[in-house]
Amino acid sequence: MSEIPASAPDCLFCRIVAREIPATAVKDGDRVLAFQDVNPQAPTHVLVIPRAHHRDVGALAAADPATLADLVSMAAAVAADAGEDSYRLVFNTGERSGQSVFHVHGHVLAGRPLSWPSG
Ligand code: AMP
Repeated sequence: MSEIPASAPDCLFCRIVAREIPATAVKDGDRVLAFQDVNPQAPTHVLVIPRAHHRDVGALAAADPATLADLVSMAAAVAADAGEDSYRLVFNTGERSGQSVFHVHGHVLAGRPLSWPSG
């Protein structure tokens, strides 16, 4: 198995982890962190990411399932802290799904009715 780099050159979210680019932190953990999405699509729109670089949620699950569990738990805590009992946790995976940053991130969306199916 190839080694997973802790960070990747030119990765926007690795640079947020390294504090080279500012972000509004919401929660901070040993292996994961949460920060406000810069272009919110709902009253609550928070991104939850692993500190280590993994391309997408499938790659993270294969390489480090414990960190994926931390990420999902942090997403639930973000929603609970926002007073939301309903929320959507979205992992866009691949360009055609809308993934634009290739460092896995869960979008926590809440605070308005969310239609289904998504677009
Ligand atoms: P995706 O399209 O699923 O890859 O989501 C990428 C998300 O990152 C989008 O919702 C962007 O608004 C968000 N984003 C891009 N740059 C930043 C940044 N510097 N700080 C916070 N969120 C960002």
